Amino acid sequence: MRLPEGPARHLTQVLRLTPGETLRLFNGDGCDRAAQVIEVTRSGATVAVGAVGEAQPEPPLHIHLALGISRGERMDYAIQKAVELGVAAVQPLFTERSMVQLKGERLERRLGHWQGIVIGACEQSGRRRLPDLAPALPLDEWLGLAAPNTLLLDPQAPQALAQWSPPGPEVTLLVGPEGGLSPRERDLAARHGVTGVRLGPRILRAETAPLAAIAVLQALWGDLRA
Ligand code: SAH
Repeated sequence: MRLPEGPARHLTQVLRLTPGETLRLFNGDGCDRAAQVIEVTRSGATVAVGAVGEAQPEPPLHIHLALGISRGERMDYAIQKAVELGVAAVQPLFTERSMVQLKGERLERRLGHWQGIVIGACEQSGRRRLPDLAPALPLDEWLGLAAPNTLLLDPQAPQALAQWSPPGPEVTLLVGPEGGLSPRERDLAARHGVTGVRLGPRILRAETAPLAAIAVLQALWGDLRA
């Protein structure tokens, strides 16, 4: 098969593979595939795809990350690191204090950019199951659909994250953007049954908070325990 443009570029310009050399490919379904380079040209690469490898095991805890949209590089960083740390899905949210105006074509382009970050983080970290990146939604709308086991990362919450324990194999983390959630949004989340949890006595940046929380969840109940 001919590789799509991104992987072809990676193969030719980063890995600098030549015909006959072997590599592993993945398409996001949890398995990888053995492959061999057939031809490399300036415009692309052709490979022969071989046997399907073993499926990557399902993680013990499925962590969904709902993230208030922050400025460009903060979002990029949070998404990339969250994928490395094993999140199952990422949901970008428009919040009152998201300073980013994204609509129409710009929003489509940004989603494509985030999708590229998700795929790149999987390639880099050897994840074969592609996390789902959902289309951005307004927080209020998303709260109406939010899964039962949702935690709001809130520096003022009385309960620490480590004091909570997951009643099931799925958890959703809701994190504010760089300006935090407004009091109205925090009330609304509480009215939708979202539990507030705190991560220590310091205010963390919007990109640090989700990563610290994912690491805590993974260490206590997820795949960092193994
Ligand atoms: N300026 C805001 C801080 C926003 S930090 C304020 O003072 O409220 C961005 C997001 O990170 C917050 O909305 C919250 O979800 C999360 N966060 C930051 N520090 C945290 C902490 N210590 N505990 C829990 N969540 C935290």
